[in-house]
Amino acid sequence: MPEGHVTHRIVKDHTPLLAGGPVRVSSPQGRFTADAALVDGQRLDRMEAYGKHLFYWWANGHVGHVHLGLIGKYRVTPGAGAPVQGQVRMRLESPQATIDLMGPNECSLITADERDAIVERLGPDPLRRDAKPAVAVERMGKSKQPIGQLLLDQKVMAGVGNVFRAEALFVLGIDPRRPARECSPDELRALWDTLVAMLRQGVKDGRIVTIDRREFDVPKGPTKRGETTYVYHRDICLRCGSPVQIAELGGRACYYCPGCQPG
Ligand SMILES: [Zn+2]
Repeated sequence: MPEGHVTHRIVKDHTPLLAGGPVRVSSPQGRFTADAALVDGQRLDRMEAYGKHLFYWWANGHVGHVHLGLIGKYRVTPGAGAPVQGQVRMRLESPQATIDLMGPNECSLITADERDAIVERLGPDPLRRDAKPAVAVERMGKSKQPIGQLLLDQKVMAGVGNVFRAEALFVLGIDPRRPARECSPDELRALWDTLVAMLRQGVKDGRIVTIDRREFDVPKGPTKRGETTYVYHRDICLRCGSPVQIAELGGRACYYCPGCQPG
C-alpha cells in the first residue's frame, strides 16, 4: 500500500507534465471510458493529494478521484502516443508525456462537493500546509486503542502507512501497543512532527529512508525492504541488536523493538 509520500510525489512529478494545456483523457481498458469522455481535451487546473487520495481539478468543473489501493500504479512515458501496455484504466496525454494508470482501487469523476465529503472523513494530512496537527493530537489523546493501530486510521491522520507508523514510534521509543490516551500530549505532538519530517523526506527521496544518514550508510541505488529502516521488516533492531517483535495492529504487522520501545 503506497503511503502519503507517494501521492504527494506523484502530484509534484505529474503536474508540470499535465497542467496548463489541454489533456487527452481516455481509458484503453474501457472501464473509465464514459467518465474520460467528459474531461477529454479539457485543461487540468491542478492536481491535489490528500492522504492516499489524488484529485484532478478539471477546467470544466469535474473532479477526477484516484485511490491507488494496494496495487495501483502510474507509468510515465515521454511524449504523447505511447503504446498501450497492460490494463490501462486511465490514460492522460499531453505533448510532454503519456501517463497511464493501472490497477487503481478507485478511478472516477466526482463533484467538488463529493471531494469535500471524502476529505471531511479524513484526519489531517501531515504533508499538507493546511493541516491542523491539533485535530490529530486530540483524536489520539481521547482513544484507548493502541497508538500503533490509531496511526493507520485515516480518520485520525491521512497518509500514514505501515512503514512510517513503525519507524516514528521507534524513533520516539513508544511501544506501539500502548493505549493512545496514555501517551502525553507532548509525545503525541512529537509523533506528528516526526511523521511530518519522515513523510517530507519520503517525497524528496521518492522512497522510504527513516534511518539517520549521519549515523548510517544509505545505499544510493534500489534497496530491499528493511535496509533503510530501524525496525520495519528487520529481524534485529538496527540500534540495539535485540530481536524485533511484531504486534498485529490495525490488521497489519507492526514491527517494534522491546528494548528501545519499553512497554
Ligand atoms: Zn532496539
